[in-house]
Amino acid sequence: MCYDISMKFFKNFLFIFILILCSLLENSSQNTSFFYPTYFTNISSYYGYREIFNGTFFHNGIDFLAPQGSDVFSCTEGIVTQIGFSTSFGNYITILHSNNISSLYGHLSSYHFVSIGDTVKEKQKISTVGPKILDNGIQNGITTGPHLHFTLFDSNKNTLDPLLYIKKE
Ligand SMILES: [Zn+2]
Repeated sequence: MCYDISMKFFKNFLFIFILILCSLLENSSQNTSFFYPTYFTNISSYYGYREIFNGTFFHNGIDFLAPQGSDVFSCTEGIVTQIGFSTSFGNYITILHSNNISSLYGHLSSYHFVSIGDTVKEKQKISTVGPKILDNGIQNGITTGPHLHFTLFDSNKNTLDPLLYIKKE
């Protein structure tokens, strides 16, 4: 009997403890904020639909007017998950952050200062802004000139408007 009561008490205690832990984790995800991934914070193209090539196109991130060769930083701490090339983003890097939010940096140079699996700190230099045309003659993604494309993804891989999450310094 005594054992039953203490077990019940323990289970209730555990349940409350888990509830508190969950609410703390939820709060930390709401407070997740990111830093600009470049010193050049002027934006040439915002997140959302835009008119282009006689049609509408969804721009899934923001474009920073950052010159070729300028530094690109991790927007917050995380783990480097991809270093690759795509026809849309050219040379790109992705980083996984806490709460399964991930960031993508596009139109980069071929100079990377990190490897897949590396842990990076906030504002750590990961690459530089690349040229429009790469050394191998291939266009560095869909771009009219050097700039940094930046996308944030939530845990379901849906894109987020980065401006809602970037901490204004
Ligand atoms: Zn873009």
